[in-house]
Amino acid sequence: TVVDPAQLLEGMNDPQREAVLHAGAPLLIVAGAGSGKTRVLTHRIAYLLGARHVQPGEILAITFTNKAAGEMRERVEQLVGPRARAMWVSTFHSACVRILRRESKLLGFTSSFSIYDSADSQRLMGLVCRDLDLDPKQYPPKSFTSKISNLKNELIDEETYSAQAANPTEKKLAEAYFLYQRRLREANALDFDDIIMTTVNLLQAFPAVAEYYRRRFRHILVDEYQDTNHAQYMLVRELSGGTAGAAPKRTVDGDLVNPAAAAAAEVPPAELCVVGDADQSIYAFRGATIRNILQFEEDYPNATTILLEQNYRSTQTILSAANAVIERNTSRREKKLWTAGEDGEKVVGYVADDEHGEAQFIADEIDRLTDAGHARPGDVAIFYRTNAQSRVFEEVFIRVGLPYKVVGGVRFYERKEVRDVLAYLRVLSNPEDTVPLRRILNVPKRGIGDRAEAMIDALAARERISFAQALVRVDEAYGMASRSANAVKKFNTLMAGLRQVVESGAGPAAVLEAVLEETGYLAELQSSTDPQDETRVENLQELASVALEYEQDPGERPEAEEGDATPPPGSLADFLERVALVADSDQIPDEDDDGAGVITMMTLHTAKGLEFPVVFLTGMEDGIFPHMRALNQVKELEEERRLAYVGLTRARQRLYLTRSVLRSAWGQPSYNPASRFLEEIPEPLVDWKRMGAASAPPSRGYSGGSGSGGFTAGSSGSRAGSRGAANTASPKAGWGQSARRVTEREVVGLAVGDRVTHDTFGLGTVVATAGVGDKAQATVDFGTAGRKQLLLRYAPVEKL
Ligand code: ATP
Ligand code: MG
Repeated sequence: TVVDPAQLLEGMNDPQREAVLHAGAPLLIVAGAGSGKTRVLTHRIAYLLGARHVQPGEILAITFTNKAAGEMRERVEQLVGPRARAMWVSTFHSACVRILRRESKLLGFTSSFSIYDSADSQRLMGLVCRDLDLDPKQYPPKSFTSKISNLKNELIDEETYSAQAANPTEKKLAEAYFLYQRRLREANALDFDDIIMTTVNLLQAFPAVAEYYRRRFRHILVDEYQDTNHAQYMLVRELSGGTAGAAPKRTVDGDLVNPAAAAAAEVPPAELCVVGDADQSIYAFRGATIRNILQFEEDYPNATTILLEQNYRSTQTILSAANAVIERNTSRREKKLWTAGEDGEKVVGYVADDEHGEAQFIADEIDRLTDAGHARPGDVAIFYRTNAQSRVFEEVFIRVGLPYKVVGGVRFYERKEVRDVLAYLRVLSNPEDTVPLRRILNVPKRGIGDRAEAMIDALAARERISFAQALVRVDEAYGMASRSANAVKKFNTLMAGLRQVVESGAGPAAVLEAVLEETGYLAELQSSTDPQDETRVENLQELASVALEYEQDPGERPEAEEGDATPPPGSLADFLERVALVADSDQIPDEDDDGAGVITMMTLHTAKGLEFPVVFLTGMEDGIFPHMRALNQVKELEEERRLAYVGLTRARQRLYLTRSVLRSAWGQPSYNPASRFLEEIPEPLVDWKRMGAASAPPSRGYSGGSGSGGFTAGSSGSRAGSRGAANTASPKAGWGQSARRVTEREVVGLAVGDRVTHDTFGLGTVVATAGVGDKAQATVDFGTAGRKQLLLRYAPVEKL
C-alpha cells in the first residue's frame, strides 16, 4: 500500500501541514489541547515513509502509554501498510528495555534481566534497610525509595550522590542507595527508573553503541514532551546526537569521556520532532520538568517552532472554560485556543449534598443522555483527583446497572495471589532474581522460616554470592537445622523440576499450570475455608486465561532484528515483560463489537491525551481538587490547575462539573468549599442544575439526595425499571436489568455471575448455585463481607 502523500495533507490546517512537511532542523510543536499534535505526529510518520522514502526501521516514536503506541502504529499501518511494523513505536520504558536487552552484556546483566515495579522496589528497599539496621521510624524505606527514584530521574547515580551527601540522613540514604543498587545487580534486575538512567549511561559510556543507534534512528518523534523528566530528556539528546550547545560529556570524576565518542558525534544528528503543551505538564512529582519544553529552543538553537491554535476537539464553550482556568497561571506562554465549530451546550454544574448524591446525579444524567440517544456508555468518562473516589460511583452504578470500567486503582497484577504466582514465573525466567525468590521461599508454607532465610542471607553476604546461589549451597554444613535444610533441599528440587518444564519449551500458560500444581499453591487455596481464598482461586484462573490468551495471540511485536535480544513472542520472558510494563491507561477498554461500550472512570492523570464526547469532572472542591497539599503552595497549585485544564479539555461535546457539600473521606465527614477552579470559569458559561441545599448539614448515608435535588429513590427505581424493559434483548449480562425482589418462585432465576444485593451483606456476585425449589441455594461472594451460602427461600436478596 502506498498512500498518496497529498492525501495525508488533506484537511490539515496550514501550521499542521507545515509540521508534517518540515525537514531538517529539530522541530518543536507547542500547542494547546486538542489542536492535533498527536495527529500531526502520526501523519508526519506516514509522510516520512510515504513521501520522503524513510525506512520504517529508521523511525523511533515515543508515546506516553503502550496503548497510545499501539494506536499510533495501527494508524500508520492503515496509512502505509504492514511496512510500518519495523518502526519502533513505544513508550520510553519499552524502547529502553529493548535497547538494554540487546546490550545487556556490556552492563553485566543477562538479557533476561527482570524489571522491578514500585512494589518490588519497596520490598527490596525494606530488605536493604533491615540489613543496614536502619530504624524504620527514623528512615522510612518508602521515603528512601522515592528519593532514589528522584535521584535516578536526575541521572544522579549512587557514586555521585554519595560524593555530595552532606548530613547524616543523606549519608544513610547514600549507603542505602549503594546497597540497593548492588542487590539489584545481584538479582539481575533493574527498577523502573534504572531502565531510563541505565540506557543513558550506556549511550554515554559506549560510543560505539551510541553510534549504532544514532546511525539507525534518523527520525525521533516524541509525544507529550512536556512530561519528560531530565533522564528522558538526556536520552532523547543522546539518541538524536546531542545539541549544538551541548557540553562535552564527562565522567563522574570530571574527565572527558573516551575521545572515541567523537566518532559517534560525527553521525549527523537525527531529525527530532517533539510535541507538547506546557499547560498540560502534570508530572512534576515524577521529576518532569517544564523546562524541557520551555528551553528546547535554547538547547537546540537551530530549532523551528510551530504553534497550533485551532482546536478540533471541543466546543467553543468548553474551550472558553478551559482557557479561563489556565489563564490564571503565571509564567506561561500566552496562547488561546479557538474552534471553527459550534458554541455547543453550556457546561453543566451540579452541587450535591453528599458524594452519593453526586454519583446519583451522574448516573441519572448518563441515563438521560443514553435514553435520548445523545450518547452511548462508551462515550462517557468520569474523572476524579484520587483513585479512592471511584468507590462511590461504583456502588451507585452497580446498583442502577450502568456498565463501567475503572482504569487504574488496585490493579489485578498487584493482588497478592497474582504476585505470588508471577514471582514463581519470574524466578524461573531469571533464577538470580532475589525479590521474587524471597517472596516464594516459604509460599506456600514449607518450613523455611525467617531464621533459615536469614542464614541464607548471611551466607550470601559472607561469600559475596547471590541469595539464589547461597540457597543452592546452604545445608547442615553451614549450621542449618536439618529440618530447614531438608525443606530447602525440597524447594530446590521443586524449582529444578519446574525449570525443566520451562526448558522443554513450554509456553507461559503451561508453565503457570505446572507452578499452580507442583507448588501446592492452588491446592492450599482450594482446601481453605477462608472465603477470600475462593476469590483468589478465581483470580488465578483469570491469570491462567490471561496467559493462555497471550499464548494464542502474543500480539503485534516489532519485527525481530539482528542482535535483538528481545524475548521472542510467546515466550515466558516476553509474557513477563508485558505484564511488567502494563500501565494504568493501557487498561482503557477498547470498543467492543456492539459499539455501546462502557463508562470509563479514571484519575485526571490517566486521562492525558484522551478524548470523550461526554466528560464528568467530579469532586470539584478545595481540598479534593485542588488537592489539600497544594492549597497553600503556589507552584503546586499551578500544577493542579494544569491538571484541571487537562480534565476540561478532554471533553468534546458535553462537560459536567460536580461537587459535593459533604464528603466523608476515611469515615471523617468534611465540608469542603467549592473548588477555586469552578469559580474561575465565567458564570455565563455554566448552567447550574443545582446550587446546593439551602439548609444546613444534609443527612448522612445514602438518601437519594433527600429529595431536594429533584431526584428521589422512587424516581431512580422507576428509571431503572423502564430501562430494564427496553433492554431485555441485550445479550450483556449485568446491566440493563432492573432490580427486583427475588421471590420464592423466582429463586431458580439466579445463575452464576448474577449480581445481587443483600440487606445485610450488601453487593455480591453469585459464584455457585445448588438445589431447586425450596432448597435452592446460592453461594454469593460479598467481597469484604465474605462468601455466604444462602438458602434463597429466606435470604433477603435482590437480583440486580
Ligand atoms: P492533547 O493535547 O489532548 O494530546 P492533541 O493536540 O494531541 O491533544 P489530537 O488528539 O491529535 O490533539 O486531536 C484532537 C482531535 O482533533 C482528534 O479527534 C483529531 O482527530 C482531531 N483533529 C486534529 N486535527 C484535525 C484536522 N485538521 N481536521 C479534523 N480533525 C482534526
Ligand atoms: Mg495528544
